[in-house]
Amino acid sequence: SGINFDKYENIPVEVSGDSVPAAIENFSDAGFGPAVMENVTRSGYTKPTPVQKHSIPTLLFNRDLMSCAQTGSGKTAAFLLPIIQHIMAGGPDMIKTVSSATNIFGFKVILQPTFNNGRRTYYPSALVLSPTRELAIQIHKEAAKFSYKTNLQTAILYGGRENYRDQVNRLRSGVHILIATPGRLIDIIEQGFIGLSGCRYLVLDEADRMLDMGFEPQIRKIVGQGMPPKTARTTAMFSATFPKEIQLLAKDFLKENYVFLAVGRVGS
Ligand code: ADP
Ligand code: MG
Repeated sequence: SGINFDKYENIPVEVSGDSVPAAIENFSDAGFGPAVMENVTRSGYTKPTPVQKHSIPTLLFNRDLMSCAQTGSGKTAAFLLPIIQHIMAGGPDMIKTVSSATNIFGFKVILQPTFNNGRRTYYPSALVLSPTRELAIQIHKEAAKFSYKTNLQTAILYGGRENYRDQVNRLRSGVHILIATPGRLIDIIEQGFIGLSGCRYLVLDEADRMLDMGFEPQIRKIVGQGMPPKTARTTAMFSATFPKEIQLLAKDFLKENYVFLAVGRVGS
């Protein structure tokens, strides 16, 4: 596995939008803190892929993003790294226990739960929605890798009867970044274990596949209930294709001045 960089040398990249943040040529240009930078290096990433070159600065500037790129182009790090950097921006102590401080990007990083009818409700700062359990596991692994030796907490929620308790118990160490499939997340929200009012980052990974699998009503429910409005969050959508339904979702979920990025030929 890994990235075949040769394949990308001549690939067309289309970027559009108002005042699009300049692309980075190297990870060291991104302005990552030492912990994030070390984890990038430890992962063996020596240079960013085209989708990372554009997505990382866009999300670091808190611009919304619609990104169309094929599988294997490095989309996971493209959204995880800026999110981790932003959550870390308050410093390592801030994300440990403090629940009321505001980080330099102006939002509260909440780790401690509130208690409601004996239930602990946790409030992630970032939510990544994934169509399948396999993809969620992959994203969660990458998130753990990039937050190694930080106090940043990640959690994963996906369907299946046998792992429900385990997943809920895991929340007890707190959750900054939550990776979830839509159905299970709704269930867990309705049970009162997760609240989305502190969620400042929303990522829809493989959005086209989520729609193909019929998740649109669930996605709209998650985003429409209890999550900050689009003006109060940063939203990134990733998709291999850009058909009408994805365009409509982008119109509803992304701020009007979103950055559009297409790497390679994108079908509709
Ligand atoms: P996508 O989500 O676009 O399908 P992934 O994020 O899963 O792609 O990345 C595909 C593979 O390439 C993964 O094994 C990932 O760790 C690796 N990878 C991603 N970015 C880089 C990079 N900049 N340098 C080296 N390997 C990378
Ligand atoms: Mg992916």
